[in-house]
Amino acid sequence: MARRVAVIGAGAAGLCAARHLSARPDQFVPTVYEQTDRVGGTWVYTDRVGTDEHGLPVHSSMYKNLRTNLPKEVMAFPDFPFDSSLPSFVTHQEVLKYLEDYTDHFQLRKHIQFLTKVDTVKPVTGAGQTLWEVTVSSVEEPEKITTQQFDAVMVCNGHFSEPYIPEIPQASYFRGISLHSHDYRSPTPFTGMDVVVVGAGNSGLDIALEVSKVARRVVLSHDKELVVSKLPRNLTQSTGIKSFRSPRTVEFKNGEELNADAVIYCTGYSYSFPFLTRECGVCVERGRVSPLYKHVVHTTHTTLSFIGVCNKICPCPQFHLQVQFAMAVLDRSLVLPSKEEMDKEVERDYSERLESGMAPHHAHVLGNKQWEYHVELARLAGCQPLSKALHSLHASVLSERSTDLCGFRNSNYSITGPDTWCKESVLIEQD
Ligand code: NAP
Repeated sequence: MARRVAVIGAGAAGLCAARHLSARPDQFVPTVYEQTDRVGGTWVYTDRVGTDEHGLPVHSSMYKNLRTNLPKEVMAFPDFPFDSSLPSFVTHQEVLKYLEDYTDHFQLRKHIQFLTKVDTVKPVTGAGQTLWEVTVSSVEEPEKITTQQFDAVMVCNGHFSEPYIPEIPQASYFRGISLHSHDYRSPTPFTGMDVVVVGAGNSGLDIALEVSKVARRVVLSHDKELVVSKLPRNLTQSTGIKSFRSPRTVEFKNGEELNADAVIYCTGYSYSFPFLTRECGVCVERGRVSPLYKHVVHTTHTTLSFIGVCNKICPCPQFHLQVQFAMAVLDRSLVLPSKEEMDKEVERDYSERLESGMAPHHAHVLGNKQWEYHVELARLAGCQPLSKALHSLHASVLSERSTDLCGFRNSNYSITGPDTWCKESVLIEQD
């Protein structure tokens, strides 16, 4: 009998789950729960901040002028390219359109229950088998609550919605504008101001650059290596913030001070799965979800999987593999190691990270390690590996981005063969 799979969220990861599950109707029946009225997750831009029209926290962290920082050639799902007439670095509207086209191409809408919020997910064990009790409510009529049982759950709710704001001494002294990048929409409110942007991740870099076009001065405050790219003259770098010394004075760790009108925290996000009950046995910390085998499958409840937990990756290609890996576990074409062995591997991966100097909240950061991870996922899932061209194209774009933050989006790329790509007209081969 076909396995009933609850998919939580209709963003890129949830759509990918629906696409692969629905392709095998004799084996899987997906039900996708989406709390808004459309697909796309974080790619659905809204001017609103705080709560949406239904009183739920705004999910998206998209800002008005966002263009992708990876080319569409490495962003695309391997089985569904972006429109070839688009430039490599697309706008958030174009990514949303791409996800809508993917939805329609694979006829996924019929599997999605829109405006439906997942309230609880609970394992029910009996007769040697675990089923999942999923309770959902209607967003428009919250008293309409239903509970359904599933054979498996794929958690695809994204992890860029719950802002992380570091604790900084005397932060409450500060009387200027203070906000997290989750609530940043456009540079206009910062016109003529002296602004501190905290954090040099992709949000911090993008926002510092666009705010610098209208602000008097922008200080990018971070503890990473200095950004080496040429920057606008009114955008400088300093260390992290040490404390707030007065209603306007920001003191940096290196002793510098700035009389600031605004502080924008681009300090990242925390994982959040409010619907998972204690019985699920998932430990959720700021930057770690455990115990997940290969960052996907719960080691005790192997019918509970998480798609898209990793950071610093090419998202859609990775979701494509993670979903097929989770499905190989469900259809038992992949025989997992014992729970003890999987737990050991999860802990080994985590301790190796800590020993190598990575921060505890970088438990799912992959970066350059994503490529060997992808090869392994494809092998375990028994599916086609990713094109080797992605690896070398991704590396080349990252290198160009690091030295030319203001101009890297002017380049255009194309994948020319299984292992080759070209930039404008230069053909590059991957060994
Ligand atoms: P992020 O990648 O988690 O970066 C947050 C940064 O803030 C990290 O470098 C972090 O350093 C730093 N930070 C944290 N606390 C700090 C403190 N007290 N002082 C100084 N720095 C601090 O989050 P994000 O930049 O919001 O990006 C989230 C996701 O959205 C990423 O996947 C990103 O690629 C994506 N994104 C894409 C675009 C685009 O396509 N154009 C734009 C923006 C974001 P540690 O890690 O060392 O703690």
